[in-house]
Amino acid sequence: MTRKLRGIFAAAALGLTTACTPAPTPLSNGQINRPLTDGEIAMAYQIFGDSIDYSRVRVHKNAHSDNNRAHKSSLYMTQASYRDDYATSRNSQVRSIFIHELAHIWQSHNGKDLVGEAVGLFFRHGGDYDRAYDYDLFDLNNFENLSIEQQASIIEDYFYLNETATPWNAAETCRNMEQRAGAVRRVFPDIPINPVCRKP
Ligand SMILES: [Zn+2]
Repeated sequence: MTRKLRGIFAAAALGLTTACTPAPTPLSNGQINRPLTDGEIAMAYQIFGDSIDYSRVRVHKNAHSDNNRAHKSSLYMTQASYRDDYATSRNSQVRSIFIHELAHIWQSHNGKDLVGEAVGLFFRHGGDYDRAYDYDLFDLNNFENLSIEQQASIIEDYFYLNETATPWNAAETCRNMEQRAGAVRRVFPDIPINPVCRKP
């Protein structure tokens, strides 16, 4: 899965603001700014439960950027990744990216300084922000202390594997998915497990 579609680092440079236009009506510049749909809230609730204030979340289509990102309570999705309703999308990769960005909203709503941590990751990885998403399965035992991008990537990968029950390469197995689920479950105890992939 490409990591280039993701990232919140650019949010700091863009000075993002939140407009108030009824969704999903496009703005005059082709952008969209809308609340979550009921289906998206139900979808997100399966993982994040009450730990996100869904009423504050806005979903933006940012057609002029090639990076998805989150800032405070807003998701900024690219032309390719934006959907009017992720709950009805059949593209599991796009739905997983949506969950990744929502993980950043969860972090923000629970005290994380997204911009400050993203800047720190940028420098920690020598300016190569793509490296910030990498994690090792050994890291799963230390979920609470991982970086914002590692946490979001684990939640995203868990969601994708759980939804598709299909490992994306030979190295990925249902056992790996269970390990991710175990890590996520320590923070979100009620997450579902796809019964197709319950056994290694
Ligand atoms: Zn991210």
